[in-house]
Amino acid sequence: MQASRSVLRVALPVPLPRPFDYLPPPGVDAASVAIGQRLLVPFGARELIGIVIGHGVAEAGIEPKPALALPDPAPLLQGELLGSLQWLSSYLHAPLGEVLATAMPAALRRGEPLPETTRHGWRLTEAGQTALPAMRAGKPQALAALLAHLRDEAWLDADHAGWRTPMRGLRERGLAERIALDPAALVAAPTQAAPVLNAEQRNAADAIRAADGFAAFLLDGVTGSGKTEVYLQAIADCLARGRQALVLVPEIGLTPQALARFRARLGVPVHALHSGLNDTERAQAWMAAARGQARVIVGTRSAVFVPLPEAGLVVVDEEHDGSYKQFDGIRYHARDFAIVRARALGVPIVLGSATPSLESLHNARSGRHAHLRLRHRAGAAQPPAVRVLDVRKRPLQAGLSNESLDAIRAALQAGGQALVFKNRRGYAPVLLCHDCGWSAHCTRCGTPEKPSAMTVHGGGRRLQCHHCGHRRPVPLACPDCASLGLQPQGAGTERIEEVLQERFAGSTVLRIDRGSSQRRGALEQQFAALGTQPGILVGTQMLAKGHDLPNLTLVVVVGVDEGLFSADFRSAEKLAQLLVQVAGRAGRADKPGTVLVQTHHPDHPLLHTLVSGGYHAFAEAELEQREAAGFPPFTHLALLRAEATHADPPMQFLQQARDLLGDAGIEVSGPLPAPMPRRAGYLRAQLVLASTQRRRLHAALEALVPRLHALPEARKLRWSLDVDPVELY
Ligand code: ADP
Ligand code: ZN
Ligand code: ZN
Repeated sequence: MQASRSVLRVALPVPLPRPFDYLPPPGVDAASVAIGQRLLVPFGARELIGIVIGHGVAEAGIEPKPALALPDPAPLLQGELLGSLQWLSSYLHAPLGEVLATAMPAALRRGEPLPETTRHGWRLTEAGQTALPAMRAGKPQALAALLAHLRDEAWLDADHAGWRTPMRGLRERGLAERIALDPAALVAAPTQAAPVLNAEQRNAADAIRAADGFAAFLLDGVTGSGKTEVYLQAIADCLARGRQALVLVPEIGLTPQALARFRARLGVPVHALHSGLNDTERAQAWMAAARGQARVIVGTRSAVFVPLPEAGLVVVDEEHDGSYKQFDGIRYHARDFAIVRARALGVPIVLGSATPSLESLHNARSGRHAHLRLRHRAGAAQPPAVRVLDVRKRPLQAGLSNESLDAIRAALQAGGQALVFKNRRGYAPVLLCHDCGWSAHCTRCGTPEKPSAMTVHGGGRRLQCHHCGHRRPVPLACPDCASLGLQPQGAGTERIEEVLQERFAGSTVLRIDRGSSQRRGALEQQFAALGTQPGILVGTQMLAKGHDLPNLTLVVVVGVDEGLFSADFRSAEKLAQLLVQVAGRAGRADKPGTVLVQTHHPDHPLLHTLVSGGYHAFAEAELEQREAAGFPPFTHLALLRAEATHADPPMQFLQQARDLLGDAGIEVSGPLPAPMPRRAGYLRAQLVLASTQRRRLHAALEALVPRLHALPEARKLRWSLDVDPVELY
């Protein structure tokens, strides 16, 4: 056996918190392999792509395996990005290999070669220029005529479908040539001029421009106050300094409309990165950023992982949005990680929202973020008038009061659009037997003490569980008493749609929820079909943002009451944000808007504070309550979850965790069954760890997590750690 053999330390995408040693692939010298390079290695029966994170010497008595291949000549993850990901791994107490794999686009994680990202164009050769005047009319001649100017392939694809075949002919005759395009040469004049910023916008844009290195700004402005114009100005300033800009947007906010606005105004290619792209396209956008070719990257949550070798600015739009938090695997928060990256990159970050998260407001109050406020709507638009409608003892049709129905009729007659918001999809939330009280529950979710209702779908014919997806037909008769008196109770978006279609026959009624808009692009098609003609939109929170609706004059909010009494510490914040965001959709253009909030609890403090004082009054009151109750942002939380097909193992595992924690100087509650104690056949329990001192919480986790991995019980169930959980369920 050799005395010492040089090995590569490799982070692999496996749930084990340690690196693995490999010999370099045959014929490769370990010292020539750089940190951050991809490496293909054997792992059990599998082959995995890992990232080299160090060099070392094989431990005595252990015979390391040789790696299979070194796919790239240079590191894929390096510099600031690699450093920030290492920080993320230690902050989340998650295996580095899994964090690095999460950051890579899927195609690269699988080991596919780095994609081509250079853009190409075509132009006539000298021979082509000479030949053109004498060419016979036809497809090749028409194409050749276009090539008097250098033409981008993307432009040819968009405007001259089928160009590739005649182009091949031109090239074979030596008349046309393909040229790599220099990204700098792609910069065109913006096709749309910027409006003159008002004083508040100017002030915000100036403050961002004046930032020297890292600075965090909370751009706190009501819907329609022109936040996007401030981002655009800041991005233009960043581009003018020759730097790259990253813009994060919520899943639903990345509409073709929004992208077109960025493209038209910035005059540079805008690279989009979202779940609608295929793996190749995602890898291309990611690599274009890594190579500095992408100057503006607009993307959803996972775009926070793009390499930014020439970073100049990071923007997080709708920073309060729930879609920034990853709910499985590596449970990162894209807004929070974006702040970490901006700091490491030494660039300003702008967090924008009409309803900032309490975390960001707290940071603004304590001076960690600069607070930039836009208090007025830009242009001529007026804020909507909000009215609380007391519907106690009123007749309701699918949850709608007569006053609401009258207001919808008036809006349609005036040529406007109305939006009915109900945060419950499906036909009805419950199927009830009118004779014996039986109701339909999911057999795979819930427990006898805490049953989980199935939602009625398909116009009353189908039952569906919103937690596990289980479906079954509505029974013909009650399984308990054989009565035929089974009745859907309450109203979801489907039933509201049905009632509105009856009531307003002849008007377009468009339902927008996860059920109706599953296909990507379907949502945009639905909006396009409606246009600006009079009509009614019915939907869930998917309607709270996204596609701009300039002709929307009325918003009716139905059924906020369920949200008013939810137990989770975040539910009031989420409800307030949702209400304000939906309300903000009314009257965006020059038409004044009205918002009606139906409720059985008109005196509820949340509604009262929101309507009389606005979101900031609510936030102040809520921050006080969070502080008093010991919740974030005043207390830092971590949630340890465990689930198994039997109830005992999760509770035992969490009890062991609790014992291992000993007296770590933090608050520990549980183990307790989770608020949703059974889902898809798994029994779930949780342990909550809390401390007012982040450092103390993390010290405890750092001691605990490796010991959890070592517990034999850990392999018999599913467990996960969620640092900074958004909710405790
Ligand atoms: P937000 O992002 O805060 O919702 P936007 O930037 O989308 O607001 O602006 C709302 C509307 O007002 C848009 O139609 C935008 O073009 C317009 N707008 C924004 N700023 C100005 C301005 N300074 N002058 C005129 N119109 C403006
Ligand atoms: Zn019955
Ligand atoms: Zn279920």
